[in-house]
Amino acid sequence: MSLRVRFAPSPTGYLHVGGARTALFNWLLARREGGRFLLRIEDTDRNRSSQEMVDAILQGMEWLGLNWDEGPFFQGEGVDRHRADALRLLDEGKAFRDFTSPQELARVREEDPDAATRYPRRRAEALAPGEAEERAAAGEPHAIRFLLPHDRVVEFDDRVHGLTRFSADAIEDLVILRADGSPTYNLAVVSDDAFMKITLVMRGDDHLSNTPKQILLYEALGYPVPEFAHLPLILGPDGKRLSKRHGATAVGDYEHQGILPEAMVNFLALLGWSPGTDQEVMSRAELVGAFSLDRVVKKSAVFDSEKLGWLNGQHLNRMDGVALASRVLARLESDLREVAEAAMETDPAWFGSILELLTTRARSVDDVALKLRPYVADEIAYDPEAVEKHWARRPDEATGHLEALRERLSGLDAAAGAWTEERLEEELRGLADERGVGAGKLIHPLRVALVGEAVSPGIFEVLVAMGQDRSLARMAAGVQWIRTHVNENA
Ligand code: GLU
Repeated sequence: MSLRVRFAPSPTGYLHVGGARTALFNWLLARREGGRFLLRIEDTDRNRSSQEMVDAILQGMEWLGLNWDEGPFFQGEGVDRHRADALRLLDEGKAFRDFTSPQELARVREEDPDAATRYPRRRAEALAPGEAEERAAAGEPHAIRFLLPHDRVVEFDDRVHGLTRFSADAIEDLVILRADGSPTYNLAVVSDDAFMKITLVMRGDDHLSNTPKQILLYEALGYPVPEFAHLPLILGPDGKRLSKRHGATAVGDYEHQGILPEAMVNFLALLGWSPGTDQEVMSRAELVGAFSLDRVVKKSAVFDSEKLGWLNGQHLNRMDGVALASRVLARLESDLREVAEAAMETDPAWFGSILELLTTRARSVDDVALKLRPYVADEIAYDPEAVEKHWARRPDEATGHLEALRERLSGLDAAAGAWTEERLEEELRGLADERGVGAGKLIHPLRVALVGEAVSPGIFEVLVAMGQDRSLARMAAGVQWIRTHVNENA
């Protein structure tokens, strides 16, 4: 039978890292094996589910590029079928009506937790023949519980954990229909997975203890039991289960931080799986080609945001120019976006070279977007720390160097091809020698004048990228700024 897998999130929160990893592994396996990937929104918990969360989950899946083949199905739409399954178990003597009130059960649980596991069944057995039906017919509220075969040992061959065994002895007769008629998770999930002909249930380790209950339900209902694969927990760097304490956990937060979906997919794939080689940077196609459940590990995976940043930088550098440009433009404030778009239209090759220059050191699209202004806009802001360090301590020296440099570089004939890294370096070093200072004394104030900051790509690359006119204008503006702002306060 061909593979059918599903991702079944509850819309009680955003699509978080753990859920996205589960979705991705299901998607990868389906794509790898030519199977079908279904999306089912488990919205039966009406009080905690919301449309906003449903939208956020769908959007997160789309952003990650995890397209589904069937669905989205909504669990709430299958309630009649869930109920019919529960009533069939009742009819067949595999479930029973439980009239124990929640208060009564809580009291027993407090007195003797062990006895509470079997208490509802004992109460049901103590009823006279036909009494349960009479009371139900009279409208007395009651739950329906699965008559769990306690003598069973449930065994299954988990695709990650291997042979796994649970004794049914300690499991309670679980509620399958609540007193208000609503189905519980374990019943609904079995009923749905059977109905949707799921062949492999892949989900987080937190569901491992539900699996024996579900297998017993499949058997009781006479449905084929699917295979199971339970994925390792994701921990924060401190070894505790990943949570908000560790920072962003919603996939959408990473989108807003400028993480690329390609990098996020790559990163999530390595949370509990490895290709078995040293390769870490992988495209979606490479992941699909390499994915297998055999290399999913049993032990927990650690969420390392440093690594996510690094992977993002790697994917950023692999991205083609057009795609990169459109993403960078989308991150700019509208005034800057207009100038950047105009610059791109006037000279696309030049614009592409700027992005390439900025991308080499960047870890996110935002890093690139933040550094773009000096190359395309007339006005820039000066970082106060850079001003303090390289201009304000010796303002006369800084203006002297900048003016001399400006003079020297204005003599270069850019139109004749003289505005090159080699030539600029030669001129700058020559001038430094003439002035009896190290080249750094010229480079530092120059960098602040050009980009407004104390760090940038190599200064000669910056000069070339910025072009002669803009570079010279920036130097003049820097001198002017120092004269009006720094000397004034001195
Ligand atoms: N709705 C469940 C959850 O979000 C998933 C159940 C399952 O995958 O079986 O945890």
